[in-house]
Amino acid sequence: MIALLAGCTTPGPRIDKSLSATGQASRVRFLVLHYTVSDKPASIKILTQQQVSAHYLVTDDPQPTVYGLVDETRAAYHAGISSWKGYTQLNSSSIGIEIVNAGWKDTPQGRVFAPFPQSQIDVLVPLIKDIIARHKIAPENVLGHSDIAPLRKQDPGPLFPWHQLAQAGLVVWPDANRVAAVRQVFDIQVPDAAWFQKKLAAHGFALAQTGVFDQQTRTVIGAFQMKYRPANIAGEPDAQTAAMLEVLTTPANAPLPPVPPAPQLPQLPTSPVVPGTPVPVPGVPPVQAVPPAPVVQPVQPVQPVQPVQPVAATQQ
Ligand SMILES: [Zn+2]
Repeated sequence: MIALLAGCTTPGPRIDKSLSATGQASRVRFLVLHYTVSDKPASIKILTQQQVSAHYLVTDDPQPTVYGLVDETRAAYHAGISSWKGYTQLNSSSIGIEIVNAGWKDTPQGRVFAPFPQSQIDVLVPLIKDIIARHKIAPENVLGHSDIAPLRKQDPGPLFPWHQLAQAGLVVWPDANRVAAVRQVFDIQVPDAAWFQKKLAAHGFALAQTGVFDQQTRTVIGAFQMKYRPANIAGEPDAQTAAMLEVLTTPANAPLPPVPPAPQLPQLPTSPVVPGTPVPVPGVPPVQAVPPAPVVQPVQPVQPVQPVQPVAATQQ
């Protein structure tokens, strides 16, 4: 008691606050959205009386209230074990928003998620705008709990209207024209597991690069689909998902993979063909002066090229 009183009366170190550094920034890098899986009274009780917490709670009242439960300068306990773009333990570097929503329940027809009333989104959008402007949070760092902990969490779930947030400029979204263009490539051949794992990691997810479509890969694909392609969130590695991933992980001014020509020419009898050799196709007039594809091996200088009678040389 004496020590406590002494603590109150002893002046702390004297700090002169008359100067200020130019080089400084917010410690907040991420904004993370959640649903509470509880009604409003239970959500308030849990978030104010238990160890789990969030900076803000958006209720589901007809006119939703935004409660500020934790000061933005302090950490709230909402993220848990988490990772995005190599950053981990995001409680220390994020703002968390909990939204009152029942989450999901399993029914004979499958898993059913609870919708978000538009009134909640109308309150949420200006709240997010204000937070990301003050902390200079990039749209690629406005996330769901399922982004930063995809193997543990599904919130805010596939009914959360991410696209509305994208239209307000709050989250990144793949350009539809670029997605349609690159989808033509993946419609012919959906990429393999190693490609998906590499792209999901480049997008921001933490997942093991196993080279096979294992359960963690499907779950992370499902988390991606919940945000960007919620019509089917089964975690199937399909062409549309691949195209969205490709566009999201390719800078806007960088070229996308070239679309192969369609329809494909008939297959020739299988004989090895000298690279760069024009290949005669039955019934197709020879193509004049096709510019060489930009490749691969440095061309040997001044190798005299014989006018090639294709195939003959290789059929001996
Ligand atoms: Zn959550």
